[in-house]
Amino acid sequence: MSKRVQVIGAHSADFVWRAGGAVAKAVENGGEAEVIALSYGERGESGQLWKEEGQTIENVKKIRHGEAERAAAALGASFRCLDLGDYPLQIDGDALMQIADSIREFAPEVLITHTDTDPFNPDHPVAYAAVDRARGLAAGAGVSSAFPTIKPPALFLFEPHQPELCNFMPTVFVDITPVIEKKRAAMAEMKAQQYLQTYYAQRAEQRGNHARRASGNQDVQFAEAFQRVIPQVVTEL
Ligand SMILES: [Zn+2]
Repeated sequence: MSKRVQVIGAHSADFVWRAGGAVAKAVENGGEAEVIALSYGERGESGQLWKEEGQTIENVKKIRHGEAERAAAALGASFRCLDLGDYPLQIDGDALMQIADSIREFAPEVLITHTDTDPFNPDHPVAYAAVDRARGLAAGAGVSSAFPTIKPPALFLFEPHQPELCNFMPTVFVDITPVIEKKRAAMAEMKAQQYLQTYYAQRAEQRGNHARRASGNQDVQFAEAFQRVIPQVVTEL
């Protein structure tokens, strides 16, 4: 059951809201999890920090690094930021290879990132495109290549803020009931985006309702929704 799970988000807090429970669950089940942020979201997602007089970009990055590291630790994951800049996040050839190398080094069985569309955020679709491409470079085309490749990781998209506008169709619910306190603790570390804590706590309850109806399992109280991109291979249905 133990899995290697890697979450790659555009900004340093993205993983907490949308995949924190799945990360904590994987670690509780004996797996290993790594969170990679392409940027700190220092310009576009740190509004509360910029209200302080004399604030600097370096200080915002430092605070965001501490928040994300503590949040990841609360879930049992490691955290690393490639610090590529945000609003706009731009992926050049070097950045793409850095992301591909990160995937190759960790060799995840499960890779999680953004949806390909988000009308409210200019960086999230850029992150999706980069991660999707980097995944292909890390794994090759599923055949032997002229460069080292890893076993193709399953690709999941986490739930965006307004899913119906982001091309998101939930195909998998993860029961996060046993780890909800860990997710709450991780969310509480994100002091620069406190307004999202209530929102995502409510979302976990709503998805718990949907998961109960889909599974008939009345014990599911909280869930996270994901969209599976690559077909799952099974020995029987
Ligand atoms: Zn973001």
